[in-house]
Amino acid sequence: LPPSRSTCSKGRTAKHAQCCVWYDVLDDIQENLFEGGQCDEVAHDALRLVFHDAIGWSPALFAQGIFGGGGADGSIMKFSDIELPFEANAGIESIVEDERPFAHKYNVSYGRLSIQFAGAVSVGNCAGGPRIQFLAGRPDAVGPSPDGLLPEASDSVDSILARMADAGFSPNELVDLLASHSIGFQENVDPSIPFTPFDSTVTVLDTQFFLETLIKGTIIPGDSIHSGEAKAPIPGEFRLQSDSAIARDRRTACRWESHVLSQELMTSSFAAAMAKLAVVGQNKNALLDCSEVIPVPKFAFVAPAHLYLRFPFSLDSFRS
Ligand code: CA
Ligand code: CA
Repeated sequence: LPPSRSTCSKGRTAKHAQCCVWYDVLDDIQENLFEGGQCDEVAHDALRLVFHDAIGWSPALFAQGIFGGGGADGSIMKFSDIELPFEANAGIESIVEDERPFAHKYNVSYGRLSIQFAGAVSVGNCAGGPRIQFLAGRPDAVGPSPDGLLPEASDSVDSILARMADAGFSPNELVDLLASHSIGFQENVDPSIPFTPFDSTVTVLDTQFFLETLIKGTIIPGDSIHSGEAKAPIPGEFRLQSDSAIARDRRTACRWESHVLSQELMTSSFAAAMAKLAVVGQNKNALLDCSEVIPVPKFAFVAPAHLYLRFPFSLDSFRS
């Protein structure tokens, strides 16, 4: 053992002794939150929660003398009584409560454990997912995020780009973050068909999502077209109005098409955008890099985006 490394549980080591606790958290959440390290609905929700917590950060509000949120600070869990009733947080309640006990058990703040760590681990559980950086040591949230900071599926591209720019994200980085929809599904846009995925490979972080979103939509998968919904291209699939518009907007279409063509570009830029999202509103220099605790994703063959589709489309491997 090099003298600079600390010994952790089960023979594992870490550069910083303070990172050791995360191996124990990892074992616990892989077993008891992600049911053996699966890319399932819980993994999807854990990733979604990272965004819902972190995007609560607005320099524009601070400039007006209004508290603009603490970004990736765990406020959505600490102040869940205030933030969960926000309309844009519909469907996020269960993952907040599923993760909360792990923060209490290991006595770590909501921002650093339950949200950022679980989010980073969840991506590696999905085939094709990159290893996401994990920085530990966020201070506890000091206040709830203001309402209205989450982009919604019914918002215009202008409005979404403006909101993301306020939080520090370029149009390219917005598209990079949307790679998450390759392992995503809708729950509340059309409540009549919860868990309807955004692409035909919902357990694989592949480029199918970017391709399929470009196909002409002809199908209404549920009972009617809802606010925030666009017609879907494939039976059993759901298309968000915002995804449809971002894929076709002149400011974002080029990046979108680049992701159709390159798994490598998509995953590396997704990892970079996630690393940025994880420190929104935080002093990165005050955090400790415990990325080595995040498992290196197993090699998975990921097919290039293609138009061969199997019918009937089956969700049996996804729904529990
Ligand atoms: Ca927050
Ligand atoms: Ca996919």
